[in-house]
Amino acid sequence: MDKRFLSLFSLILLCVTSMSNAREIALTFDDAPTPDSVLMTGVERTQKIIAALKKANVPDALIFVKAGHIDSQNADRLTQYADAGFHLANHSFSHQSAGQIGVNAYAEDAYKAHLALKSFKNVLNFHRFPYLHYGKDLADINQLQALLTELGYKDGYVTVDNFDWYISSLITKAAEEKKTIDYEKARDFYVNSLYDSIEFYDAIAKKTLKRSPRHVLLLHENDAAALFIGDLVNHLRSKGWKIISPQQAYKDTIAKKFPQVALHKQGRVAAIASSKGIPDTELRHPSENEQYLDQAFAKAGVIVNQ
Ligand SMILES: [Zn+2]
Repeated sequence: MDKRFLSLFSLILLCVTSMSNAREIALTFDDAPTPDSVLMTGVERTQKIIAALKKANVPDALIFVKAGHIDSQNADRLTQYADAGFHLANHSFSHQSAGQIGVNAYAEDAYKAHLALKSFKNVLNFHRFPYLHYGKDLADINQLQALLTELGYKDGYVTVDNFDWYISSLITKAAEEKKTIDYEKARDFYVNSLYDSIEFYDAIAKKTLKRSPRHVLLLHENDAAALFIGDLVNHLRSKGWKIISPQQAYKDTIAKKFPQVALHKQGRVAAIASSKGIPDTELRHPSENEQYLDQAFAKAGVIVNQ
């Protein structure tokens, strides 16, 4: 065999092996339809997210809808996600903490959202708790799981928790205060922060499950996602990750067994780790903290001449 053929052959082999070893992750966006901001209208935000996902060939994304926020003005945005081939799911009606309002009030609220979503197409039977608050204790958590199962819902868990919503709010707040934003630095800050949290929860998974599961990334329908979701996808792929559909991700065996612990607010991987005796303090990345992010954001120099 000549040398060129050999190097081509090894390149193909490398591609095939790296593909089969690719770690996998699905994208989910909570709280749609979100209101206008100083950076963009809600309509623009939805359009930007759809365009970026399409451009990056993301196979599917699940949009967890805050159903109480649907009105005649913004209902069309949900239809646009569905028309673009993405899917919608239930994120409650009034976005309250199940731990605070209790089992019955929460179940009623989730049912109200269920009815509100009936008229939309591409709705999947997944439900995600606001703030990832599954209930005030394990008894309540299990009772709510049973009620939601009765309604036909599967748990729309995340495996990677993070504070994307807070990073986005820092960027939007800077724009509101008419500060000059270095968008390249903002992009790097968003991408790197999220990537760190993905690696953090994958490392916990490898420690407790002895493998990398199909991940579900928590994101929100916010300004940062509209600006940088394409960059995040490119970064993930450059690190050998494969973007899969949420439906594929929820076929992982970790979806089958609901962890019998009270800790669910850092996602399914943390809940499994907690059930195996890993202290809860080790299951939260330092960047899941507003003060930490304030300092890191300032240090990253996103705001010019502050
Ligand atoms: Zn939410």
